[in-house]
Amino acid sequence: MKPAPFDYHVPADADDAVALLADLGDDAKAIAGGQSLVPMLALRLAAFDHLVDLRKVDELRGIDNRGDSVWIGAGTTQATIQRSDDVRSAVPLLARATPLIGHFQIRSRGTIGGSIAHADASAELPAAALTLDAELEALSPRGRRTIPASEFFTGMWSTDLAPDELLTGINFPVWSGRCGFAVEEFARRSGDFAIAGAMVAVGLGDDGRIDRCAIGLFGLGPTTCRAAEAEAALIGTDPEAAVADDVAKAAVSPLTSVPADLHGSADYRKRVGAAMVARAWRSAVQEAVHG
Ligand SMILES: Cc1cc2nc3c(=O)[nH]c(=O)nc-3n(C[C@H](O)[C@H](O)[C@H](O)COP(=O)(O)OP(=O)(O)OC[C@H]3O[C@@H](n4cnc5c(N)ncnc54)[C@H](O)[C@@H]3O)c2cc1C
Repeated sequence: MKPAPFDYHVPADADDAVALLADLGDDAKAIAGGQSLVPMLALRLAAFDHLVDLRKVDELRGIDNRGDSVWIGAGTTQATIQRSDDVRSAVPLLARATPLIGHFQIRSRGTIGGSIAHADASAELPAAALTLDAELEALSPRGRRTIPASEFFTGMWSTDLAPDELLTGINFPVWSGRCGFAVEEFARRSGDFAIAGAMVAVGLGDDGRIDRCAIGLFGLGPTTCRAAEAEAALIGTDPEAAVADDVAKAAVSPLTSVPADLHGSADYRKRVGAAMVARAWRSAVQEAVHG
């Protein structure tokens, strides 16, 4: 099937792009890499009279290591992030999560902003942004604002962005000191969206006890989420004393909206999710404690 007809706009800068989105209203949609939007248009799951292509908006691209954070333009491709030495050294969890997205052809066109704005519950980049407490920068005709990742993902494929608002960049805090990071996911075939996945970031204080902890879950609810209760219970504890299976149980047992579909029941996804948390916990603690 082919998409329904649309008018195609290619603004030269971000202000023009948001002005167009505001003028054209609900009939318009931004398009970045097209790796989620084009299949939806082609399958006629979505139709818009106007597409606003962001490919010429240079200010949406780039990676800037600012010392205590790494800024990534929303239009930066996933392949560029995967190749970045700054991302690898300063935001290792993001560097490890990005290659798990689809296949290299998809990562060559797909952008970080497109993935985060699309907000698929099984996607890696929304989970990485939430796990690392990233800040999302947005622009609309009303000006610029910064949205904490914890307030950005509002439900299934929905975010805090207004229809005429663009994501311009994502700021990832750099964790310093003794830290460990891991991502684990299970998919039926390499490159498929994960059935369930987990990300763990753990930081140790001078006394060797856990002073920072983030457990992000994906594929386990209508949107990516954090295991806040499990995280809180781990603060101040000896990382090697925590039993991975207990951490996993504490992380997934509060989940109440686990999806069920032809890939598996809610109970199956929960069990897979727990296994992913346990694996990620062991790896992150190993890295934090032993380097
Ligand atoms: C076969 C296949 C397998 C895939 N597997 C995975 C996978 O395993 N994991 C995964 O995470 N993803 C996967 N994807 C999706 C892929 O990561 C997409 O690249 C990504 O979801 C969307 O990025 P995009 O730049 O292509 O956005 P587009 O498809 O162009 O846009 C997606 C949505 O984001 C909006 N948007 C885009 N840019 C902005 C912006 N700057 N500001 C506001 N809104 C914006 C668009 O309006 C649209 O609603 C897969 C895709 C395919 C086709």
